[in-house]
Amino acid sequence: MGQTGSAMEAPNTLAELGRRASDLRERVAAAAERAGRHPDDVTIIAVSKTIPVETLRAAYDLDFTTFGENRVQEAQGKIAVWGDAPVRWELIGHLQSNKAARAVELFARIQSLDSLHLAETLNARAAQRGHVLPVLLEVNVAGEASKTGFAPGEVLDAARALAAYPALRPEGLMTVAPFVADPEEVRPVFQQLRALRDELRRPTAAASESDAWSQLSMGMTDDFEVAIEEGATIIRIGRGLFGSRPLVQPSHTTQDQ
Ligand SMILES: *Cc1c(COP(=O)(O)O)cnc(C)c1O
Repeated sequence: MGQTGSAMEAPNTLAELGRRASDLRERVAAAAERAGRHPDDVTIIAVSKTIPVETLRAAYDLDFTTFGENRVQEAQGKIAVWGDAPVRWELIGHLQSNKAARAVELFARIQSLDSLHLAETLNARAAQRGHVLPVLLEVNVAGEASKTGFAPGEVLDAARALAAYPALRPEGLMTVAPFVADPEEVRPVFQQLRALRDELRRPTAAASESDAWSQLSMGMTDDFEVAIEEGATIIRIGRGLFGSRPLVQPSHTTQDQ
């Protein structure tokens, strides 16, 4: 990978990033092997919210090439200064419809499609750009009031409804599991998301192409191993790669704060 400016990073921070990256990759590989899966079948998304661009360049030099952001404005600032190094930016946080046009321009995939109203808006914006936008349906598996997403019982109907939006390409399901002390507690959440995904992939269900609905985005720093054991194809890792975030997120973060 190229020199993209990581020399600006303090050496100890860089060394820590390198250590966390190799530890993460080892744990991903071990979890995949426990489940009889190939480590390459699990994509790690580096969750870059609140993380400055210099650090993302260092992560890129360590071969992390997909970044997950949860705010359109923050992502826009980073993408504007990122340059040519080939990376994907994905949206993993709730999207307000009035930011849909910008989101369609910025993101390679929206993982947080959490309502049919948003689907309609994104479809219109993507169609205007002559673009087919990959999306994941977000499912609020545990029914937490603090989270958006479709209830499990709504997913099949929502998936069918997406057929009316040809500028969206559904690629799978995403969930944020409840925060718990012991990741074993959320294993049933991951099992439920997987069962929904498997149901969507039955020939009579919503899947129209063989790769439709194949993805399962589940698992974060505290629970990714359990998620991989239960079939995650995408894990979203923030703290496990970049270390702990500031307690209060700035409203937007750019490289020059
Ligand atoms: C912040 C965030 C993550 C990453 O969380 P960590 O616990 O830091 O790994 C993953 N997914 C979503 C939707 C997030 O908002």
